[in-house]
Amino acid sequence: MTDDRGGLWRKNGELVRIGTIVAAASLLVAFLVTCAIMTSTNVNETTDLVYELKREYLKSNVDQLINGMETYRAERLRELAANRGVAEENLSEADVAAVDEEVKQYAKDVIYAADFEDGSYIWVNQVLDFDGGDDYAIRIIHPNLPETVGMRLSTNTMDIAGNYPYREELEGVLTHPEGCYYTYYFKEFHSDTVSEKYAYARLYDRYGWIIAMGVYVNEIDDYADQARGVGSRVGLVGTVVLLTVLGASAAGVYFVSKRRLQDAYDSANAELRHEAHIDALTGCWNRGYGDRLLAEAFSDFRRNEVGCGILMVDIDRFKDVNDTYGHDAGDRALRAVADALRGSFRAVDQVVRWGGDEFVVVLHGFTAEGVVAVEAKLREATARSRIEVDGKAIAMTLSAGLAAFGPEDKGYKPAVARADEALYEAKDGGRDRLCRRL
Ligand code: GH3
Ligand code: MG
Repeated sequence: MTDDRGGLWRKNGELVRIGTIVAAASLLVAFLVTCAIMTSTNVNETTDLVYELKREYLKSNVDQLINGMETYRAERLRELAANRGVAEENLSEADVAAVDEEVKQYAKDVIYAADFEDGSYIWVNQVLDFDGGDDYAIRIIHPNLPETVGMRLSTNTMDIAGNYPYREELEGVLTHPEGCYYTYYFKEFHSDTVSEKYAYARLYDRYGWIIAMGVYVNEIDDYADQARGVGSRVGLVGTVVLLTVLGASAAGVYFVSKRRLQDAYDSANAELRHEAHIDALTGCWNRGYGDRLLAEAFSDFRRNEVGCGILMVDIDRFKDVNDTYGHDAGDRALRAVADALRGSFRAVDQVVRWGGDEFVVVLHGFTAEGVVAVEAKLREATARSRIEVDGKAIAMTLSAGLAAFGPEDKGYKPAVARADEALYEAKDGGRDRLCRRL
């Protein structure tokens, strides 16, 4: 893996240089803002200048995130193609879907880790229907209201001032692919106060994501008022000094926040290094990361009542494949089963190599009515689980145990244990079947 992802991944020595640039740039922006405010003759121009700075700040953070995701995706596809020994365009749909899952997880990690100075944050809604209406989108990332993740949104929602923020946002991003700005009223970060927000949103076409970031208008206005009020009281020299300090702090917030986002990228990158989280042989999530995915799914279940199924799958008589056709064929067989599972279940479901020839499929949004669909998908995966050795097709069968999080569970482990028991029941019952503990 290379150390350089579109300039995002910097070596430590470079931080000193960045610090110097940030300081110099802060002073320069402060100076320019000061000059502009000094030469501005009316109140609105001062506010406009502060808005301009904030607009640029919102846009650059969202754009940087999107660029980061694109770079990350391109890199992962390149690596995976190299691992598989195929051209990128010949990667299987399942492989591409797995990379897309990684990219989404990466974006989530970046956004939750980013800690902006001014209480602003980035949120993401996934559009389900570009025509708008009730349930036109689903909230998928929201650091301010994490408990509302999974909530369906409506373009008919009105804020306290009579704005339709979701409608405005949807129409805005559709008519302005480069991004749009809008204002609305929303709950403040870590507080119950509802305040006016100024936001920037852009459509990330690849996933139908609307990625947005906002700041509270009172924060911008306070800043502009401060600049003007203080200026009129302390005369010309004082005004220059104070405005320079204020300008520097605004620019400082801007650059420091950008730096925070950069740090968040760096840590998300370290977190998601595929050596650490991906099983090298099969390209599935590894056991360690699987534990984390299950813990996250469990908290989603607890907080948002989003159901989750756990399907534990084990290859039948896998030792025979190794013993008869050799270890290399065994390895290929493991990859074939992994591909089959990824290709048969939904793209949001996560396939974890739990160990040896055992896999766990995390079935997001699973409910008891889904058993029939899971059974059909497992059959489909079984049918796809085959390799060729010397021109001869070798088919495998799979045994599986299905369980789901229940109201009594205190964590994800009891459900994993139930899935495991069900798997053993399937083995005992003659293999090539699904048993459940629901
Ligand atoms: P059962 O139907 O009861 O599951 O029988 P089985 O032969 O599949 O038994 P078990 O699941 O216990 O065997 C797992 C085998 O998987 C044993 C081990 O040699 C093999 N194995 C584990 N990891 C790898 C690997 O990375 N590559 C290969 N080729 N084989 C592996
Ligand atoms: Mg086995």
